[in-house]
Amino acid sequence: MLLSEFIANQNVKKELSECMENNSLPHTIIIEGENGTGKKTLANIIAEYCVCSSDGSSPCGICSDCIKAKKNIHPDIFIADGNNSGELSIDSIRSIRSSAYIKPNEAPAKVYILLNCENMLIPAQNAFLKVLEEPPENVFFIMTLPSASLLLNTVRSRARIFSLYPVPVKDAETELRKRFPEKNNEEIINAATVCAGNIGMAILMLNSGVNEASELAESIYSSITLSNEYMLLTLTSRLAKNRTFAVNVIDRLIELSAEAVKASVGAETFSSAAENAAKRFSRTRLMKIQNTAQKARDILNINVNMNFFCTWLCAALRS
Ligand SMILES: [Zn+2]
Repeated sequence: MLLSEFIANQNVKKELSECMENNSLPHTIIIEGENGTGKKTLANIIAEYCVCSSDGSSPCGICSDCIKAKKNIHPDIFIADGNNSGELSIDSIRSIRSSAYIKPNEAPAKVYILLNCENMLIPAQNAFLKVLEEPPENVFFIMTLPSASLLLNTVRSRARIFSLYPVPVKDAETELRKRFPEKNNEEIINAATVCAGNIGMAILMLNSGVNEASELAESIYSSITLSNEYMLLTLTSRLAKNRTFAVNVIDRLIELSAEAVKASVGAETFSSAAENAAKRFSRTRLMKIQNTAQKARDILNINVNMNFFCTWLCAALRS
């Protein structure tokens, strides 16, 4: 990924690209920002710049160093994550410190990416300080954490701090559209708005939404088959929380009911919910469920009150 492809945060991009053009990248960089704002992505871009062996503008994206960096297999890029036990302990920092004085394996420079430095304890920070005071030539340290204020003053004062923020909602929408071409506009706008421009959170929401919705649809379909009214009521009430989520669930419910209808005439299905329903219900009943699911989808297309919708759906599926 090129710095120009990194979304918004124009000030940070401008400052960094000036450093890159003038060959004046600071040896110690702190990237601060809330979760989901792209700290790790930016750290990777900087690391790729540092190891790129192209004579032209870097990162070139095509030299062997850039390619290895992209695949996370570059021998001169080291990553330690404070969320993993011991990776930023005082012992680990000491070994990072001594390895920093060894020449790079193949790239022009060596990069240490230290993620989640909020978990770096004071003794480890003090041990780290020794190498920051006089960093070896061609060695770069990139630290990420929610706020630089969580580090010792002495560490902070030896680094250049770059602060990342959520991007404008419109910019987030553009980025999400690129990443999720299969999602409809409404889902994209909803995720970007709910997450207030925090792209990482919106990606998480769009990804988890799919599985969660699919699982809930299976459970709803099973509860119809089991004639478990209480279960059906509890499950359908979960649709009230978010309209986009409800759309995903109902779409999957429509697929499941179509599968069950086909299974009732001998077609193969990979859904146990559809298979059980096909065994238990008549084809007429299965088609009725399919119609109800389709009707639910039509209702969601108009701006319906979600609590009303859940009550209606539960009653319609029960009958
Ligand atoms: Zn390159």
